[in-house]
Amino acid sequence: MILTKDDVEKYIFAGTSPEIIASRKLAKENNMHVTGKGAREYLEKLDEYENNNQKILREKLMKDNKAVFSFLLRPLDKIFSAKGGSINYNLKEEEIQKVKDSVTEVADGLNIKRYLKKVVVQKYIIDPNGILFVDLDEFGDLSTTFEPTTKILWYKKRGNTVEALIFEGEEREEDTIKRKYYRVIDDKLDRIFVVEPKPNDTTGVKQVREVKRDRLTNFFGFVPAFIVGDIKNPNIDIFNSFISDINEEAKDLLHDVSINKIHKISQGYAKYWQRPEACTKCHGEGELKWEAVPGDGMWLEKVCESCGGAGYKQKVSPSDTMIVPVPEKDENDPAPNVAGYVNPSIEIWKKYDDNIKATRDYLFQVLWGTTFEQGGRNETATGRFIDVQPVQDRLRDISHTFSLMHQFILDCYGIITLRRKDYKSFVSYGTRYVSENPDEILKTLMEASRDKVSDVILHDMRAKYFFAEYQNDDVELAKKQKIARIEPFPNMSVTEVMGSEIIKEEDKLKKVYFVGWYCSLTDAELIMKTEDQLIEELNIFIKTKKVKDGTQQTA
Ligand SMILES: [Zn+2]
Repeated sequence: MILTKDDVEKYIFAGTSPEIIASRKLAKENNMHVTGKGAREYLEKLDEYENNNQKILREKLMKDNKAVFSFLLRPLDKIFSAKGGSINYNLKEEEIQKVKDSVTEVADGLNIKRYLKKVVVQKYIIDPNGILFVDLDEFGDLSTTFEPTTKILWYKKRGNTVEALIFEGEEREEDTIKRKYYRVIDDKLDRIFVVEPKPNDTTGVKQVREVKRDRLTNFFGFVPAFIVGDIKNPNIDIFNSFISDINEEAKDLLHDVSINKIHKISQGYAKYWQRPEACTKCHGEGELKWEAVPGDGMWLEKVCESCGGAGYKQKVSPSDTMIVPVPEKDENDPAPNVAGYVNPSIEIWKKYDDNIKATRDYLFQVLWGTTFEQGGRNETATGRFIDVQPVQDRLRDISHTFSLMHQFILDCYGIITLRRKDYKSFVSYGTRYVSENPDEILKTLMEASRDKVSDVILHDMRAKYFFAEYQNDDVELAKKQKIARIEPFPNMSVTEVMGSEIIKEEDKLKKVYFVGWYCSLTDAELIMKTEDQLIEELNIFIKTKKVKDGTQQTA
């Protein structure tokens, strides 16, 4: 799309587009949930009925939804740890290296995948109408940024691509004249326009003028921007966030969490109480009397300054020892009902806690389509999804969006590095998500082997177990996969193998001595040697055993 000067003038004078205004509002609320920014102001507005002390407490104790949201969004990490997936550069070997070198650090010193994981995932949740933007400076250097909707005035989009873009203006004061500069990018040009007072005009009319010396050719041939969202809002032409469905409930949660915290701090202590103790200065009279001249019978009196006239001690610290007089013969002994503790309402406290936990679980279910189980042997683990399928479906959707972002950045860098406007790569992120706990898989695997399930299923389960156990350690995973392929008769026990009449003697020995041989291998051997080399070495190992064990048959 090409923007004429009239187009630019129209959009700039129209101000921020209604879609961008709606997008900013959405981003502000999401940001409050995810990072806690603005949560205090939001709650203050909500709780105008709070008394002053409560407001002061809240200032000090403000606890936002951050922790809950970090919990709710944790499954998103799996997008980047999933197995499988591929990057097809569609290039010859020497060109691939060139493109690879150009994307080792695209933003914040990170490569594409790490930048998407460390920075963009959060932006995708908070501000789905913001853009990934690849910029080419006058020296030919490329950089990638996420531009939030607060920095965008208007764009024309098609799906996730941007056909023309105007950034929000930047105000500058030059010789007492206020001007606002706008960067405008379309398929052909990268221009700067300025809004300024019309010369020789005193009525305040403004004009739009292009700053011609700042005009650049757009080398990409398209606007190098990609809108990160992927859920269409049914009512206006913007993207909703992954968390839009839970926005209202999350606001309630924010409220509950903060009230609970305040209740705990302000009401969470046991309160000390005691019956009044007589003031030691006035002996409970509340006033002091004395004779003006000792013995003349003229009594003066004044209010006791120690107790203020109350007759009992005004300040009692719970650590003070309280002296309870021994009762006279005809008196009732008040002990021990002279002091004690009132415990806080655990009931309300528990109710708040239960409520917050229930809401959190409900939000999880809305987001991921399933609930989760906590506990098991590893208490610190995220827990286990009750139903893995809906989680995987949602992850696949989001994974697809992130594959497209990766491809977009890679293509932009490829186009400039190779000087080929038609360059296109193909990126597909893996979708083999490890949603289960390796211990659980192992348990099922053990049960399945006892029950003599099909060997193919056992084989698949073993593969799944290795994926789960080593999901964050590719080297260890490769080692284990290699050795698992060599292990003889993995689904049979040594006794079963030895008792078999159809298994050759040599293969039986392999089964018996496999673990011994495996343990003799060094890490380096396991990593460097091929599967064939390792099988050959196992054969040699077995031969030495034959001789020592005297089972060598002479032909
Ligand atoms: Zn007193």
